[in-house]
Amino acid sequence: AHQAALAARSADNLRSPICCILGHVDTGKTKLLDKIRQTNVQEGEAGGITQQIGATYFPVEAIKQKTQVVNRDGKFEFKVPGLLIIDTPGHESFSNLRSRGSSLCNIAILVVDIMHGLEPQTLESMRLLRERKTPFIVALNKIDRLYGWKKIENNGFQESLALQNKAVQNEFKNRLEQTKLAFAEQGFNSELFYQNKSMAKFVSLVPTSAHTGEGIPDMLKLIVQLTQERMVGSLMYLSEVQATVLEVKAIEGFGMTIDVILTNGILREGDRIILCGTEGVIKTNIRALLTPAPLRELRLKSQYVHNKEVKAALGVKISAPGLEGAIAGSRLLVVGPDDDEDDLEDEVEADLASLFSRVEKSGRGVSVQASTLGSLEALLDFLKECKIPVANVGIGPVYKRDVMQCGIMLEKAPDYAVMLCFDVKVDKEAQEYADQQGVKIFTADIIYHLFDSFTKHMDELLEKKKEESKLLAVFPCVLSPVAVFNKSGPIVIGVDVVEGQLKINTPISAVKTNPVTGAREVIDLGRVTSIERDHKQIPVCKKGQPSVAIKIEMGGNQPTYGRHLEEKDMLYSKISRASINCLKEFYRKDVTNDEWQLIIKLKPMFDIA
Ligand code: GDP
Repeated sequence: AHQAALAARSADNLRSPICCILGHVDTGKTKLLDKIRQTNVQEGEAGGITQQIGATYFPVEAIKQKTQVVNRDGKFEFKVPGLLIIDTPGHESFSNLRSRGSSLCNIAILVVDIMHGLEPQTLESMRLLRERKTPFIVALNKIDRLYGWKKIENNGFQESLALQNKAVQNEFKNRLEQTKLAFAEQGFNSELFYQNKSMAKFVSLVPTSAHTGEGIPDMLKLIVQLTQERMVGSLMYLSEVQATVLEVKAIEGFGMTIDVILTNGILREGDRIILCGTEGVIKTNIRALLTPAPLRELRLKSQYVHNKEVKAALGVKISAPGLEGAIAGSRLLVVGPDDDEDDLEDEVEADLASLFSRVEKSGRGVSVQASTLGSLEALLDFLKECKIPVANVGIGPVYKRDVMQCGIMLEKAPDYAVMLCFDVKVDKEAQEYADQQGVKIFTADIIYHLFDSFTKHMDELLEKKKEESKLLAVFPCVLSPVAVFNKSGPIVIGVDVVEGQLKINTPISAVKTNPVTGAREVIDLGRVTSIERDHKQIPVCKKGQPSVAIKIEMGGNQPTYGRHLEEKDMLYSKISRASINCLKEFYRKDVTNDEWQLIIKLKPMFDIA
């Protein structure tokens, strides 16, 4: 493993690019990876492909062999020393390969099932790739499932396609066009790889089969080509250490360990390292640098080989004291002889702080919780795009204290008493507490599903408020009584609606002016509990419609016709500042211009400014 790591540097000091595989579940990411790793029996171990921690290293010799069928004339020149492919496909790995907001993943393969087209996680992956500006190619996988496909194992795609019958070729063309259209809808121009004239402008689509191996030589060649064309600058080998924590795992015999992808520089046993932890910055010394034992050595007592030092680019497991609480997605810094440890500590701390400081200044917003630094960053980026304000940020499982923190919002801004949790577990006690307090917890493993949950939650709240507002909302109306059927308790009268609209539940008042003092007096009659025309209940009577009989009820002592009121007194819907606001918030569409004018006319009667 050590030698392979050394080989990861080339003569002209280009280092090996790092490649991630992303895509929707079941598109064949794992199978593709297995297929590329598979060494031909004839090749033996000559390929020198090495299994590392969290990644597989493909030296350029192995890639040359695997791409031979599509480079028979040897015209394509390889400039990179090799390729480091991350073993755990998916957006977690991708988003954890981060440093100061940019991606350490140099290039990506987005796998799409040619039979299914773009699926939810495909879109999510595309969003991440776009956000991190990572160049990628698309593997249109499972071409062997095109009806009637005749395979030639591990063949180049163009040759294989040419050998298919017309029907297969047509089905392929149709599916290709559909895929291109779907990509265009997402704002990506794409082109079949051998028709692509500009890798800078068009995403290359390379048809593959992880079962037959067809198209895989094309895919590998394309990856190398894209890296060489697009990113030579960022692949220069540097002495400065650049590393990121991909996973945190307890391993028997080693305690807590971190799996690290070293993208630049050298790590040595004993090095002083600094990284983010849930309880603050972790400073410790590397006890062991572990890589997997080659297969033939597996019978030895450990499955790991200890390394004195390792060089980029590679995946390595670090064992060290005090790694509990280490955060995946964290940068890993090494204290060099000329470095000030405190400075580096500040730098790591700032990394964490910069994410945690991305909360609303007003303190009003939802709480978010994610599994790793990388996924937290991706989630925050996404919520910002959706304009959902965030007040609290956390990493790791949701515990009661996180719910309590979020619960503060119940007082401040109840709509935001919501936790959006990406890819984390919710502790049982925390969930119970949340249910009790009325804090909503949404979990998802696709980021934008959280947006959907949140939006649905907000819609439900609005619906509920609208329901509650029914009593508060007062549509304006002016009524002219035409008959008194019952003087009081309840009042039953016949009326014409002369302005606005009368609805069930509307509070009614008479407004009289004292003839002596000139003072205005508002007499509340209660709420309308029934509206009838021709002995039929109706919910509303609008201006100009035939007269209706209405019942007005009131808890307590209701004013009486003949004593406090006379038939000739006009009646008005009793509006208030709150009722006007309620109409504006929930029923703006249902109120006509004339009715808004009427409200303005009624305001002075009820002393509304
Ligand atoms: P992942 O979830 O993206 O890692 O998908 P897997 O690699 O686990 O594959 C999902 C399923 O699709 C498995 O049953 C595979 O055997 C199958 N599969 C993957 N690639 C291909 C392919 O190229 N052709 C066919 N026919 N099946 C495939």
